[in-house]
Amino acid sequence: MPEPVRSSEPITSVGFIGLGNMGLPMATRLVKAGYQVDGYDVSPAAGKALTDAGGIYGDDLRGVLMGNTVVILMLPDSDVVDSVVRDEGFDTHSWTTVIDMSSSEPLRTRALAEELAQRKVTLLDAPVSGGVKGAINGKLTIMAGGDPEDIAEVAPILAHLGKVTRAGDVGSGHAVKALNNLLSATHLLVTSEAMLAGERFGLDPRVMLEIFNGSSGRSGSTDNKWPNFVLPGTFDSGFGLRLMLKDMRIAAHLADQVGVPDPLGHAAVELWAEAAEALDAGADHTEIVNWLRKDESR
Ligand code: NAD
Repeated sequence: MPEPVRSSEPITSVGFIGLGNMGLPMATRLVKAGYQVDGYDVSPAAGKALTDAGGIYGDDLRGVLMGNTVVILMLPDSDVVDSVVRDEGFDTHSWTTVIDMSSSEPLRTRALAEELAQRKVTLLDAPVSGGVKGAINGKLTIMAGGDPEDIAEVAPILAHLGKVTRAGDVGSGHAVKALNNLLSATHLLVTSEAMLAGERFGLDPRVMLEIFNGSSGRSGSTDNKWPNFVLPGTFDSGFGLRLMLKDMRIAAHLADQVGVPDPLGHAAVELWAEAAEALDAGADHTEIVNWLRKDESR
């Protein structure tokens, strides 16, 4: 692979593509940290929100990339990432580092990294966990994949967004992120089953959560999702159910590809897919509980 040419100039501006539930607060943090943020999103409303936060919105890709040696992507999935990076407007300098912070598919990330290396562009993957709240507070868990030196070069930027752990070579961040979400979705589903059973038995849900959170059944579902989004009935975590299903499928596919049996993971994918069919396209992932509730009548 050709070696990318490194720039010795300090990085003062960042391109940011994908200004949705996560991208906007992350870009806003970079603005507040003093970077010039050149943002792009297909949604002009998202662009307006960035402008309101002090960033610069360009209505085409080329404008966003001009002059930026670091470009962050926070897009829905690998299909969109590939289409953006392969767009003729994605006309990068040869020394650009592209950081894909979306939850993308690890093997496609590796393939894209090889393709970009031909243009002397470095691709790093740095997906995140911590939700919209973590994005707002700069408390994301960032799972980075790539060469340690390349990660170190962009670490000062990522430090404004959360804590970086190097997962391994390029694609490793995306692999561990998908596996994390398979865990997260599976325990949210079984937690919800347990909560509904307990409620039907006559237990107080808040008391159940207090006991689970001091016991071995504790998880992000019992100490965050149920108390903050399910019990208040807001279902507004900001993470779409379909995006969660996408991540679960990536993880189940990964297990298949490496030849590890994951019968529970596949069963969870099927159940979440049924929920995605039954609920609105824009449903929050915490609405899995509502799908189960409707199903109680079966
Ligand atoms: P989102 O749907 O809110 O935002 C995606 C943004 O990308 C939208 O603003 C959309 O207009 C824009 N977009 C779509 N196609 C585009 C294109 N071709 N060019 C430019 N912009 C385009 O999604 P999100 O919740 O912000 O998630 C982004 C990524 O982060 C996903 O991969 C998701 O799985 C992951 N993630 C989300 C959360 C969460 O809590 N929401 C947490 C961790 C990781």
